[in-house]
Amino acid sequence: MEITNISEEAEEFTGNVWLIENDETVLIDAGTGDSWEEIRKLEPVDKVVITHSHYDHVDNLPKIVDKYGPKVYAYNPDNLPVDAEELSEENTVEIAGIEFEVIHTPGHKDDSICLYSSEEKILFTGDLLFPAGSFGRTDLEEGDRDLLIESIEKIVELGVDAFYPGHDNAVEKNAEEQIQESLENARRRESKY
Ligand SMILES: [Zn+2]
Repeated sequence: MEITNISEEAEEFTGNVWLIENDETVLIDAGTGDSWEEIRKLEPVDKVVITHSHYDHVDNLPKIVDKYGPKVYAYNPDNLPVDAEELSEENTVEIAGIEFEVIHTPGHKDDSICLYSSEEKILFTGDLLFPAGSFGRTDLEEGDRDLLIESIEKIVELGVDAFYPGHDNAVEKNAEEQIQESLENARRRESKY
């Protein structure tokens, strides 16, 4: 399964937009700013799965929906600028032919989710955690450090070979160690994000 960050070259601040192309074209998050310039080159976009509703992850959604009419999925569709199907921990969501579990991971924002494939052992983390022991900020509205720690505890034992965060680079080596490090750091210090 090839996963690329199509907002990598964006000059303006944006959340990552992960692209998975297989039988279908799926985006994890929609980004903001000039990340649209890369998204608009795609043909088609079948699905968009939103990790949480902060603007830097959802801002391009109306443009994507206008141009492509994809299915959109989110934990709390009421927080989005477009219609979406609701995800919960009782659902799975199929991304390019692979079933992903939905794991509710509040602490950075109430509607935050991670998406996990036990088959591929990969995890999309949104802004729950980032490479090298970083973790999501909890000083914004709905932020809660204790909840964030509980959410990281939910994923620390899943069995993850690679993770794809909402900012910064993919982690395709030592993913479990880095998740463990994020958990330890969240328990004792301030987020740099
Ligand atoms: Zn966020």
